[in-house]
Amino acid sequence: MLLIKNAFVVELDEITNILIEGDTIKSIGSEGTEGALDIIDAKGMFVMPSFSDSHFHLRNPGHAYKQTYEEASAACMKGGYTDVIALANTNPVVDSIEVLREVKEHTDKLPLDVYQVASVTKALNGKELVDFDTLMDHTKIFSDDGKNVDDISIMKRALKKSEELGFLIMDHSEPESEMVKRNIEIVKEVGGHLHFCHISKKESIEALVKAKDAGINVTFEVTPHHLFGIDLDYRVNPPIATKDDVEALIGAIKDGYVDAIGTDHAPHTEEDKKNGSPGIINIENAYSMIRKVFYEQGIDMNTLIQLMSKWPGKLVGKEKGIVEGSVADMVIVSDEEYKIDKESFVTRSKNTPFDGRDVRGRVLMTIAKGDVVYDNGELTRKSNQ
Ligand SMILES: [Zn+2]
Repeated sequence: MLLIKNAFVVELDEITNILIEGDTIKSIGSEGTEGALDIIDAKGMFVMPSFSDSHFHLRNPGHAYKQTYEEASAACMKGGYTDVIALANTNPVVDSIEVLREVKEHTDKLPLDVYQVASVTKALNGKELVDFDTLMDHTKIFSDDGKNVDDISIMKRALKKSEELGFLIMDHSEPESEMVKRNIEIVKEVGGHLHFCHISKKESIEALVKAKDAGINVTFEVTPHHLFGIDLDYRVNPPIATKDDVEALIGAIKDGYVDAIGTDHAPHTEEDKKNGSPGIINIENAYSMIRKVFYEQGIDMNTLIQLMSKWPGKLVGKEKGIVEGSVADMVIVSDEEYKIDKESFVTRSKNTPFDGRDVRGRVLMTIAKGDVVYDNGELTRKSNQ
């Protein structure tokens, strides 16, 4: 049994003890803690449910030179993420049961829970829909992320299927605001559930707020880099936002319109970056970037937990939370300030414009299904054996 002592449990707003047995939170409080063999002193630290990423690029199959399966898992654990939704723009594209099985075979061995998305169109060609009916046995999320679905009739047919079969489509709208508006209209017309990825523009926010107020079934995420960077010259898709856009994103979070923080963690080698590949690597510091922005903006920790853990967790059927009887997926974090150091990344790619930037709150320990899967060594651990 593992005992986390003196932790400030954010959701409960109190300092208490958490006893973990096997993969489950056995009890919260001071009762029955005598039998614990492994004791972690979390005095002065926050404890929260582990993070769930609604938008992650695993880079496999096919792009292990950017990031291997093992590196992806280690980077997530270091960032406090125990589960991720992996997009389908790999090589080959995840558009068949065979490729879904291949990914599963590799990810089953990892401590990281990977929920693999399949593409909307075959090989992301934008023309030919995948076989939703058979793929539905293996995944309930589809996305052509990386590319806009240009053909309006294809998008309509996909959303009709989403309505009929009950799956989710994650949409990469480009050009953003124009396509967000077009796609909201399609959902209004044919139904389905459309989740908009990496929303970055004030104009898109305005359209989405209106759609949500009208009861249209759309949801959306924002990324750490679009909240953290302003007017920065670094190739990412959609581009780094302006001050006005960032204010709109923050306003939408404060007003409760944003559903999730999705990292859009997108590793690239130096050479691929030089050749124009868009993307930022950020899962290892996502929490610290978000915590810094939220702290400065006066956005509370429960909102952070909702956007980084509970809502994206629910998308893949997980009930995240520090609750007796629930799965012991959690993070212990400090609230210290530190600087991002790309040399400390555990994944091989280093593509970030944020090296050296100040952030707040360090992930000290990540626990997945009751196992300590990441420990940076700062917390005191005692063994009672
Ligand atoms: Zn995208």
